[in-house]
Amino acid sequence: MTQVRRVSVFGATGSIGQNTLDLIARDPQGFEVVALTGGRNVARLAHDAIRLKAQIAVTCFDECRAELEERLKGTGIEVASGDAAVVEAASRPADWVMSAIVGAAGLRPGLEALKHGTTLALANKESLVTAGPLLLSEAKAHGATVLPVDSEHSAIFQALIGEDQSAVERVIITASGGAFRDWPMEKLATATVAEASSHPNWDMGQRITIDSASMFNKAMEVIETKEFFGFTPDQIEVIVHPESMIHALVGFNDGALMAHVGPADMRHAIGFALNWPDRKTLPVERLDLAKIGAFTFREACADRYPALGLARRVMEEGGLMGAVFNAAKEAALDHFIAEEIGFLQMSEMVERTMDRLSPRAGLQNDVMSLDSILDIDREARLIARETIKTLG
Ligand code: NAD
Ligand code: MG
Repeated sequence: MTQVRRVSVFGATGSIGQNTLDLIARDPQGFEVVALTGGRNVARLAHDAIRLKAQIAVTCFDECRAELEERLKGTGIEVASGDAAVVEAASRPADWVMSAIVGAAGLRPGLEALKHGTTLALANKESLVTAGPLLLSEAKAHGATVLPVDSEHSAIFQALIGEDQSAVERVIITASGGAFRDWPMEKLATATVAEASSHPNWDMGQRITIDSASMFNKAMEVIETKEFFGFTPDQIEVIVHPESMIHALVGFNDGALMAHVGPADMRHAIGFALNWPDRKTLPVERLDLAKIGAFTFREACADRYPALGLARRVMEEGGLMGAVFNAAKEAALDHFIAEEIGFLQMSEMVERTMDRLSPRAGLQNDVMSLDSILDIDREARLIARETIKTLG
């Protein structure tokens, strides 16, 4: 009999969270659910907490607490609210935690889980971009494992199993190209929020979908690759692959390329992390290659995707630049969604914020702490807002 694993899901009501719960729900004997957290979608959070018999349900918003309490009355499921309660939930004994909150808010609960030696399945890419060295040193200090859930990083991780990483020459991560991959450059400036929010291949949360259209998502993933695996920036390549079936390729010193191929379904990467180190049957589509016919590739042009150039700069400057980049990008996305800035102005806003904070972020290279990260994150958001009036 296999052992029951205690699991918690942070960001349970989101796209990754729901896919994670789907897999957990298929094996009720295999898992015991400790904590589920969410935001304003209290109905979904309560529904899932009941069906999966969670110990505690947490909403990050205090104003949503009363409704959550009402919905869970008489069930015996604990209720809590607020950012501190989300972090507290991560300190509850569990074997495996899914980090699927969107944005820098995902960092603290992840760090907390690692402090308790819990295996951290990391979908929240912002954690590695803002605080890669801190996160990994925390994991090491507490003997905790971090497993990548972003599909490209799961793919690289899988291609490296049994390999000597020093024999790797390069890694290539693929990009679908997002909503505007076939748009002419001159039209991009007029792209609307609705247009940027529909992804041709993946069904994801709104923020990451817009980040895919601007390639900020891929820019984050390049940094994530450097931080997680320790590859040098010049070893990391990006290629546009509109079919989204090859998720990443690892190139070895004998010229071999190991590609990870699978359907565009996050349940593969989530399930791999959930069952690791075993592989178990997953309810994902099996590809019919004859029907697919061809995989195609296009160059990821630097002038079309300025976010990729900014990621290179983050990797060169190091230190707290990842935190600046991420916070400015989150702010730019907020302003774009609020229709205060245009689609192309997002990268301009990020670049200007990086320019302003560059000397400080670089100087603080040696003092990466949760406090220094949160301070510069706050400052970068304010500066990003200030740049609005200067954007072209
Ligand atoms: P989503 O918007 O669908 O869900 C986000 C979740 O986070 C929700 O449960 C929401 O309630 C919660 N949340 C939002 N703000 C919060 C806050 N301040 N404090 C606490 N909880 C908060 O997002 P998603 O698409 O599931 O993405 C989650 C993370 O996974 C992101 O970091 C994203 O980049 C990454 N990721 C997503 C995909 C995907 O296919 N969706 C793929 C790879 C990586
Ligand atoms: Mg990805």
